[in-house]
Amino acid sequence: MNDITPTTNGLIIDGESFFSSQAFDVINPSTGELVGKAQDASVQDLDRAIKAGKTAFETWSKLSSDELKSYCLKVTEKITEYSEEIATLITKEQGKPLNGLGSRWEMGGAAAWAGYTSHLELPVKTLQDNEEGRVELHRKPIGVVGSITPWNFPVMIAVWHILPALRSGNTVVVKPSPYTPLSTVRLVEVMNMVLPKGVVNCVTSSDKNENIGKAMSEHSDIGKIVFTGSCETGQKIMQTAAPTMKRLTLEMGGNDAGIILPDVDPVAIAEPLFWGAFINGGQTCAALKRLYIHEDVHDDVCQALVKFAKNIPVGDGMNEESILGPVQNSMQFEIVSRLVKAGKSEGRVLLGGETNGLFHPITIIDGLSQNNALIKNEQFGPVLGIVKYSTIEEAIEMANDSENGLGGSVWSSDIDKAKSVASQLECGSVWINKHGAIQPNAPFGGVKKSGLGVEFAEEGLHEYTDIQVIFS
Ligand code: NAD
Repeated sequence: MNDITPTTNGLIIDGESFFSSQAFDVINPSTGELVGKAQDASVQDLDRAIKAGKTAFETWSKLSSDELKSYCLKVTEKITEYSEEIATLITKEQGKPLNGLGSRWEMGGAAAWAGYTSHLELPVKTLQDNEEGRVELHRKPIGVVGSITPWNFPVMIAVWHILPALRSGNTVVVKPSPYTPLSTVRLVEVMNMVLPKGVVNCVTSSDKNENIGKAMSEHSDIGKIVFTGSCETGQKIMQTAAPTMKRLTLEMGGNDAGIILPDVDPVAIAEPLFWGAFINGGQTCAALKRLYIHEDVHDDVCQALVKFAKNIPVGDGMNEESILGPVQNSMQFEIVSRLVKAGKSEGRVLLGGETNGLFHPITIIDGLSQNNALIKNEQFGPVLGIVKYSTIEEAIEMANDSENGLGGSVWSSDIDKAKSVASQLECGSVWINKHGAIQPNAPFGGVKKSGLGVEFAEEGLHEYTDIQVIFS
């Protein structure tokens, strides 16, 4: 059951699998083995996919809200039906375990988001209705949406992009990361079992010279780009998209701070603290990436966190015993190693160990200053740096001392006190006594360089529409 080999890994254009003249290898980061091959699309292939999306839009955009909802619910059913197969593919190409908060959990999230998004509505809003006239706000689909996704949650993020686009009457061309394309290809194939041709297309690319993502951002027949990935790429997309005035939703990097107030119960917070930082091996945009602990509880919190962390099994994700997997690729592994080295040069390693291939041990480094590279930069790996603080003003200042502003957390047994600290943090989401717990009914997005716009809920759905106001 778990040992599936992907046999269909073409581009998905106009409902058909299409094989390009070139293909590239997709490697399992746990074993170094070949998982499968993906097509290396040319710009002409991309043009064909966009044309299919544009043609399908003519009919799809005219469907009623109930018809769109019904299609989205059918897509949700298919995601659920194929979840074990796609979870296995995610584990093989991404590395995260089947178990724990791994690929099965990702598929559960994908289905939950798809279902919730299917039920969202875009009602006409009456702004005025009196003797002077009636004014209505309508929301109209934009056209072909280009979705560009990263390698950390390949299927869940694709669903975050695709479902709201479909629900609001747009068609889609999705381009997955070259590191994890196969699960997205399969997802789109499965969606195509119930969707009309051309509504969702998938173009894979090895990203030589960033060609396909760049061509999507430039293309005059794509009306909107929704992107999740690094800040640098998001900025490039914004520049490339400017001449065509594309609508943009950019979900980018974060360097989320967590602040521990002196009144916490160290043992009670250890588990949520660990998962806030180490979910998906830390390769999560809104993971806790730097931890500020008040001096009164510093030693006890460190001790409880290390005690919890050292029992987490790290290994090949196909092994049901594994709870965390490897770093997904060597490029990211190098970044993590460089930042760990910087951390070790100043701090004290509370938990660590030897690396093995792309497996990096869960690493916790204490005694860092605000200017250490491990605190200043997003590590995006299984590593957490800790800074001790004395006053809450100092902790808030350090937490806000970042170009990013995705998420943050405050840990305290006094919720009102925690909320008052939360309101002073410069970030799009703040959690109290947990970190990174996103949900489909709450908008999610970053401030500062972490992004533009939001995903999820009605606010996220609105980003897939243009407003038209009708005055009568
Ligand atoms: P990345 O920016 O390197 O790649 C993301 C996608 O962009 C890939 O599909 C890639 O092929 C494509 N791309 C590369 N160059 C492009 C260009 N010039 N134009 C258009 N597309 C291009 O990011 P990554 O390494 O895959 O992911 C890691 C980063 O993503 C981290 O910084 C992390 O914080 C961030 N991230 C953010 C969120 C969020 O919701 N905020 C979620 C997950 C990951």
